[in-house]
Amino acid sequence: MIKDARFWEKHDDRIRCFLCPHNCVISQGKFGLCSVRINANNALKTINYGEITAIAMDPIEKKPLYRFEPGRKILSVGSFGCNFSCDFCQNYSIAHYRAESRYISPDELAELCRSTEDNIGLAFTYNEPSIWYEYVYDASRLLKERYPEFKAVLVTNGYIQTEPLLKLLPYVDAMNIDLKAFNKGYYKNICGGDIEHVKRTIEESHDKCHVEITTLLVSGLNDSPEEVASIASYLASLDRDIPLHLSRYFPTYKMTLPPTDIDVMLKSRDIARQYLNHVYLGNM
Ligand code: SF4
Repeated sequence: MIKDARFWEKHDDRIRCFLCPHNCVISQGKFGLCSVRINANNALKTINYGEITAIAMDPIEKKPLYRFEPGRKILSVGSFGCNFSCDFCQNYSIAHYRAESRYISPDELAELCRSTEDNIGLAFTYNEPSIWYEYVYDASRLLKERYPEFKAVLVTNGYIQTEPLLKLLPYVDAMNIDLKAFNKGYYKNICGGDIEHVKRTIEESHDKCHVEITTLLVSGLNDSPEEVASIASYLASLDRDIPLHLSRYFPTYKMTLPPTDIDVMLKSRDIARQYLNHVYLGNM
């Protein structure tokens, strides 16, 4: 469904979107970098409001969240679009293409959430929830106001501006935030972003809801002992109890490097455990 977007302003004869740190300046009829926000007659619209491309009951550990409602299942939904361009994207068919979708209103989603057996809530995942903002906000808020016992979860790259993030956080119980590397070049060249904004999201969120972090270790790009130590010591400077998931990379989408070495994964876990109390390996 096409819906009025939030967080934008007129910028001469164009529109500047400030939902995420890309701050796209968008001409009439054009989309922003995320491919879901369009300048339509000098107003910003979002085209993926309520458009669900994937829906499933997932174990909460699949998000991954290991220290939040362990052993439970959560109704998980995603749409299309992303504000990153990671070469190793595992969900590229919905992140970078307009996949087939079905509209589900926030009201219907809240009722589906309540009527699904053994469900603890709603997870916005599969594609990037930041750029699905209006729907994520409306659906989370409605769910929490109508059924406060249910949990709202985001699985996100953390690439969102502070103002929209702070407005959303009161309706969010848990997040898994990707910290994809600890160097500017990797974020710029592999993902198309800036690490400083992701760090800001982690810093803003970790004491307002439950936060776990995921880092995909990619062979030769971000899996050096120094980089793993930098990630872990940064997180420890915020809170040693922040769980860190080190995930093993496999070739996918545009990236053809070999899978991350198992020994590197094991050593990385040992290094991270020198700083953090909860470190897990994934994709092993
Ligand atoms: S949300 Fe989309 S349109 Fe807005 S700044 Fe980010 S990439 Fe650009």
